[in-house]
Amino acid sequence: MTDKVVVITGGSRGIGRATAIAAAARGFRVVVGYASNQAAADEVVSAIEASNGKAIAVKCDVGSEADILALFKAADEFGTLGALVNNAGIVGPSTRVEDMSAERIQRMMAVNVTGSMLCAREAVKRMSTRNGGKGGVIVNLSSVAAKLGSPNTYVDYAASKGAIDSFTIGLGYEVADEGIRVAAIRPGLIDTDIHASGGEPDRAHRLAHMVPMKRVGTAEEIANAIVWLMSDDASYVTSAILDVSGGR
Ligand code: NAP
Repeated sequence: MTDKVVVITGGSRGIGRATAIAAAARGFRVVVGYASNQAAADEVVSAIEASNGKAIAVKCDVGSEADILALFKAADEFGTLGALVNNAGIVGPSTRVEDMSAERIQRMMAVNVTGSMLCAREAVKRMSTRNGGKGGVIVNLSSVAAKLGSPNTYVDYAASKGAIDSFTIGLGYEVADEGIRVAAIRPGLIDTDIHASGGEPDRAHRLAHMVPMKRVGTAEEIANAIVWLMSDDASYVTSAILDVSGGR
């Protein structure tokens, strides 16, 4: 995979940022997608370039198909696509389903589900041997929420990640003999900004006692699993979902 391009949606912060840096260290040319925080994306590119890696930042709200098409066009100009990390994801403020607006649920599904599916579509068009491509890997970010359901918190988010699990299994089977492996990571409680986005910055640490390992995970611990799935060391892994959750 050395010198191949990896597209990482939401590569500017948190798990995406750690994955961008880990992938660059393994020789990938990294396309760092971001939604709005250009400074954070530029910082990731600078960090990669400072270590003699190659990276570009591309603005892409995965809730927009036009943005996704532009993201993959930029990736094409950067090199040959070898991997996609469908990392961009959002949560909403904690609430019960009976209090959720249609707009909230639609945005959740547009970003977490439709965005990931459209990015995978673009990746398969380019990587499938059926289309003249050279193969590749797609890693989707699910969540242990898909198993737990997240009652009274964000059932909509949990349901979006359940969809990602099914999508991972189905797409993996669909392209298994076309040179493309598809897998998902289900992180547990990871120390990133996403909890603040949901209105509760210390959520991960508050719930850490519920994790069998009694601690939160780091973005780097998730990134390590992602780059392993992207590597040839995982050459017989597809349609697989890996919990990286301290046992949760
Ligand atoms: P984060 O710290 O909130 O970072 C989110 C990243 O995604 C940022 O780079 C952000 O870009 C980008 N982003 C947000 N909305 C976007 C959109 N509409 N289109 C494109 N990019 C968008 O998140 P994280 O905790 O690293 O989570 C990464 C993934 O892991 C998500 O899919 C999440 O559901 C999953 N996950 C996280 C945890 C956890 O505990 N942290 C647990 C389970 C699963 P800007 O910088 O421009 O805003």
